[in-house]
Amino acid sequence: MSIRVLPDHLVNQIAAGEVIERPASVVKELVENALDAGARLIEIDIEAGGAKLIRVADDGGGIAPAELALALCRHATSKIASMEDLESVRSLGFRGEALPSIASVSRLTLASRQAGTSLGHRVEASSGGVSVPQPEAMRPGTRVEAWDLFYNVPARRKFLKAERTEFGHIEDWVRSLALARTDVEFRLSHNGKAQLPIRPAHSGERQRLRAVLGPEFAERALEIDVEGAGARLRGWVGLPTDARSQADQQYFYVNGRLVRDRLIAHAVRQAYADVLFHGRHPAFVLHLALEPARVDVNVHPAKHEVRFRDGRTVHDMIYRSLHEALAGTRAGGVVATPMPAPEVEGAADATPAPVGSYRQVPLHWPQAAQPLASYRALYAVTDAAAAAPVHPETEVPPLGYALAQLHGVFILAESAAGLVLVDMHAAHERITYERLKSALDASGATHSQALLVPVQIAVSAREADLAEQAGQRFEALGFDVARAGPESISVRRVPSALADLDIEALVRDVLADLREHGESARIEETRNELLATLACHASVRANRRLSLPEMNALLRDMEATERSGQCNHGRPTWVQLDKAALDRLFLRGR
Ligand code: ADP
Ligand code: MG
Repeated sequence: MSIRVLPDHLVNQIAAGEVIERPASVVKELVENALDAGARLIEIDIEAGGAKLIRVADDGGGIAPAELALALCRHATSKIASMEDLESVRSLGFRGEALPSIASVSRLTLASRQAGTSLGHRVEASSGGVSVPQPEAMRPGTRVEAWDLFYNVPARRKFLKAERTEFGHIEDWVRSLALARTDVEFRLSHNGKAQLPIRPAHSGERQRLRAVLGPEFAERALEIDVEGAGARLRGWVGLPTDARSQADQQYFYVNGRLVRDRLIAHAVRQAYADVLFHGRHPAFVLHLALEPARVDVNVHPAKHEVRFRDGRTVHDMIYRSLHEALAGTRAGGVVATPMPAPEVEGAADATPAPVGSYRQVPLHWPQAAQPLASYRALYAVTDAAAAAPVHPETEVPPLGYALAQLHGVFILAESAAGLVLVDMHAAHERITYERLKSALDASGATHSQALLVPVQIAVSAREADLAEQAGQRFEALGFDVARAGPESISVRRVPSALADLDIEALVRDVLADLREHGESARIEETRNELLATLACHASVRANRRLSLPEMNALLRDMEATERSGQCNHGRPTWVQLDKAALDRLFLRGR
């Protein structure tokens, strides 16, 4: 075959292969256009999972009649005009690909009325041609209809899933767009039935979280709001004890754009290391705002991925802010799992217990570590403070005072709010673990030991460079890793706690992390796993009788220990039943 230039229509269909994967991608592109046009209300109507019809109508700025046909041309955009514009782009679109791509794989109608004009115009596009604009009476804004998606691409049409599945993907996108823009109202319908009631924009951000992610997340998530290094990170992260079996509630936006990014995922995972039950996934909604020039959004046709110019700074910011917020999940500091409210009539409208961000519920209890280790099996109870409330009545500590031990497993305590139950083993385990960690962190590298025979590891030149650069980091963790040749490194010292492990495998994994993410927490993680095992063995077992002073000492330690709201496996260490809930149980006050 001789060389030829492909006709435009075919070029668009090929481009559509990348941008338009399924009905949900059409919805995403059209809603993003509406947002770029400044819409405050976006109505999305779907028929047959999007295979029959996708209609998106907005109240944004609109398109001039003379430009309707142009909007359907490839590489036609009003959003950028030069390379400099691309570097500072704040709109969601800029490639001028979506409308022509959608038009090439569906029967498309584009109707628009510009603000300040009295009449709208409509064009129709199919098989590469665009009709002459026809006047149409309509509200100001733009309406796009894509009928019979992939009618001319049988291979794609065949791969469309069941209506429900395709609509599910659409719903997912609308959810994520609704979280990105809490100032915009979204209405979604499927086969004429209203779906996903997303309240008007003015009802506020918490309200939107509640509508999209449910009341539990909206009420209990920790609020994040940090600024630094020319960036701002804000949003909400779910409590570790509320983690999910799927990573289905993880929303990260960079300048308003939802992205899936390995660097971000890594920073989040690292922040939750230690507090998450194995195999569980935290829920979060986070917005990162930074200068557009610091992030390249033009690395993926559908823009699901971005590239940060200073990935390390971004990684650090995310890790640190989340880590700090989660460290505040002390028992009593934020509300742990409340007991399920009794199912009685009217319970639903009762005021919920005061829960929420770690900022809103500050720890007013003195933080000074109290030397109360008396609940530990071996020493006699010496601390009088543990025995009796020395604090004024008005200052009952958050977890209250112990009343009894139940079934050798739980501590029952009376708090100012109501009644508290503590899983004593789980709580003690976390406290012991945090102490072991702090002790080891404080003692630094002194706990390392020299290997009789240094471990030689053959690596790539790139990895050897990395090992050399990371020398100080290794050292701080008790390792001595040095370059032994162009493609080999040797390990001469290791932290005593890890001496019995497969050093080569560990160092290789660390290098792989450094190569992938410029960062590795593997040594800490491995060390922490060991400490967790130790802590488990060192902690009070079920059926060990505790005296009241011992129990009170444990409660005070929980209040003072970071992350003590959940055990080392991410399960809650305590629950609270407040007075209102107790009243409800007995139908009091009715
Ligand atoms: P891009 O969004 O990358 O610019 P599109 O193909 O999605 O490319 O859209 C082409 C152009 O059509 C946009 O740049 C914009 O000027 C115009 N347009 C598309 N949708 C809308 C809309 N809903 N409201 C106003 N203008 C729109
Ligand atoms: Mg667009």
